[in-house]
Amino acid sequence: MKTIGLLGGMSWESTLSYYKALNEGVKAQLGGLHSAQIALVSVDFAPIEQLQHSGDWPATAELLAAAARQVEAAGADFLLICTNTMHKVAAEVEAAVDIPLLHIADATAEQLKRDGIRRVGLLGTRFTMEQPFYKGRLSERYGIEVLVPDAAQRETVHRIIYDELCQGRIEDPARRQYLEIIEALHQQGAEAVILGCTEIALLVEQQHTEVPLYDTTAIHAARAVQLALNG
Ligand code: GLU
Repeated sequence: MKTIGLLGGMSWESTLSYYKALNEGVKAQLGGLHSAQIALVSVDFAPIEQLQHSGDWPATAELLAAAARQVEAAGADFLLICTNTMHKVAAEVEAAVDIPLLHIADATAEQLKRDGIRRVGLLGTRFTMEQPFYKGRLSERYGIEVLVPDAAQRETVHRIIYDELCQGRIEDPARRQYLEIIEALHQQGAEAVILGCTEIALLVEQQHTEVPLYDTTAIHAARAVQLALNG
């Protein structure tokens, strides 16, 4: 079994989801007392969030590159950045280490392609919904058309991520708002909706809606298990 490298803490609420999914995934395949071999470095999210919102992405890249080198030094065979947003600096992180990076958008796009989804809604932070590093990758590399909520809805989705989900607050009013936005994207022609922020599945689950949901945390973790066990 390979050792899965995790760059976590963004937020730690979703790193927990990764930790659980990876161990459950390995156990599902190998059984018994088997669990995932994981090298985890978990950062302090507060300074990173401040740098994001002041637009200092180069500084975030330096912090994450240093953390990625720690993950590599701890023996990881490949690396996952446990947040969609910070894939904004994926190239810099990838360049800082010799181990391969398993990009969250690639894992998600491959799953969408397998399922024949061609037009998809995207929920995430404003950075993820508005900037090209994520939706551009889906459309340019995989030919998937990406719809995002309108500006007011994007603001709502973004605010709930930082003020509630990343702080462990999982509440019904936020769930109702997310479900309305998911339904609106579906009405506009999205065949499915990407939960493109690693905390969203803590709030919205498939049982809450008929619209097919693609949970990036679960997809990223499942692909990592596959890589760890089958190469
Ligand atoms: N975990 C979130 C994501 O997947 C948001 C937190 C962050 O800004 O990294 O985008």
